[in-house]
Amino acid sequence: MSGITSFIRGFISILQGMWITLQNLVGRRKITLLYPYQRPDISPRWRGIFYLPYNDEAGRINCVGCTLCAQACPTGVITMTKMGAGKHASVNAFTMDLGRCMFCNLCIEACPFDAIHMSTRFELASLDRGVSLLTIDKLARGGADAVERTKRTIEAALEQEAAAKAAAAAAKAQAAASAQPTEGSGA
Ligand code: SF4
Ligand code: SF4
Repeated sequence: MSGITSFIRGFISILQGMWITLQNLVGRRKITLLYPYQRPDISPRWRGIFYLPYNDEAGRINCVGCTLCAQACPTGVITMTKMGAGKHASVNAFTMDLGRCMFCNLCIEACPFDAIHMSTRFELASLDRGVSLLTIDKLARGGADAVERTKRTIEAALEQEAAAKAAAAAAKAQAAASAQPTEGSGA
């Protein structure tokens, strides 16, 4: 290839490159944002910061403290303290250390009660390591109020259950006593 041909080819390739640059400069929608003044549209499937949904109908968060999410977590992010039992089980402490979280979604897949979700919130950057430690007050939708309402609901349900059991036991004892033959009756 002669020097002139090589020069012409190089010059054409520069023009092609500049044409592509010009097209992108004026012809295409900008995909950069002046963050944080402009906010990005986040997909609803985004794996962001966790929350525990509050069930208005039941008056409690859905979590029953079964620990399946904690067992599924490969990095030991989740700890909890259970309260109540049986149908009236919940948690009064639920902590996630997001400093160790991989946002792998395994905890959410493991939960059989739809009790833990990921939101579209993504901003975790801070100079304070403490912000990545999320307690139940920060995780529950509705905050400390939702946690308090859950506690009251569970305590009321447990009291009701204990009262029903006591009433049933008393009724059973009374039925047994009335079935006993009275003194002097019979032969
Ligand atoms: S997303 Fe993964 S790493 Fe994070 S808490 Fe859930 S299971 Fe653990
Ligand atoms: S979030 Fe789900 S899996 Fe985890 S303890 Fe609560 S109910 Fe169980």
